[in-house]
Amino acid sequence: MKIKLLGTGASEGVPAAFCYCGVCKNAREKGGKDLRTRNQALINDRYLIDFPQDTYFHSIKYNISIGDIEHAIITHAHEDHFYTFELNHRCPPFAHGTGAHPLNIYGPASVAEKYAKLDPPIDEKYVRMHQLKAFETYRIGDLDVTPLPAMHGGENMECFIYIIEDGKSRLLYGHDTGLPPREAMEVIKTKYFDCVILDSNAGFENPGRYHMNIPENIQLRDEMLKAGSIDNKSKVVITHLSHNGLLTHEQFERVALENDFIAAYDGIEIDF
Ligand SMILES: [Zn+2]
Ligand SMILES: [Zn+2]
Ligand SMILES: [Zn+2]
Repeated sequence: MKIKLLGTGASEGVPAAFCYCGVCKNAREKGGKDLRTRNQALINDRYLIDFPQDTYFHSIKYNISIGDIEHAIITHAHEDHFYTFELNHRCPPFAHGTGAHPLNIYGPASVAEKYAKLDPPIDEKYVRMHQLKAFETYRIGDLDVTPLPAMHGGENMECFIYIIEDGKSRLLYGHDTGLPPREAMEVIKTKYFDCVILDSNAGFENPGRYHMNIPENIQLRDEMLKAGSIDNKSKVVITHLSHNGLLTHEQFERVALENDFIAAYDGIEIDF
C-alpha cells in the first residue's frame, strides 16, 4: 500500500491564520515542512481519507484530479475532516463533465447526519453518502475497510478510526482519537499492522481526551508491540500536529527519531 499524507496539521493548520505564537512565526519564516495544512490522505493514488477545507488546495499542490476520485472515507464530521460546502462544486454549473460516476462518501453517523442537512441536497449522480457501522468490514473499491470507534468528538458525534487493507498490507489510520476505546483496542490487538498512523496533536502538552500526545503515542505503540499487532518492521507515523504542541518540524522529527516513529509532514509518502 502507498499512502501520501496531503495535510498533517490540526484544525487551524500551522501557521494558524491569526496566530502569533513562536511555532506559527517560525513556520511563516521557514516554510517547507513547517507548514501543515488540514488533514487529508491519499491511498494508492485512488482513495481519499477525509475531505477538509484544504482539499481544493491539495488538488492543485499535488496535481490530484479530484474529479476522478470515486471514494472518500471520512473519519468524522469536524470541518477540518469533512467540509461539505466544497461538495456542491462537483455539480453543474460549478463543474462540468463530472456525472460519469459519483464521489462516494463513507463515514460514521455524524458524517451522514451532517451531509443530510445540506440545503439544497446534492444529486446522487454527483455525490453519494454511505453510512458505515463500527466493527463491520466493507468492500470499497479494492480495499477492505473496517471502522472502529474513536475517542473523539464527545457523546453526540460518532467518530471512526479505520483498519484499511489492500490485499497486500494492512494500515491502522488512527486519528483523530485519544487513546482508542477498549472495544477498538480489542480488535486492533487481534491484527498485524504494516503501518500505523497516530494522532500526535499535542506534542508533549496535555492532549485532553480526544487527541494524543507523544507519551501516549509511545504507550499505545508499546501496547501494540506487546500484543504482536506491530513489530520492528511496522512503520509507525505520528501526525495531526497542532501549533499548541509547541514543536517545530525539526523538533518533532528529532523526537520521532529517538522513539522509532516517522514524523509526518505535508506531502510525505509511505510505502509498506
Ligand atoms: Zn482533526
Ligand atoms: Zn500558533
Ligand atoms: Zn476532530
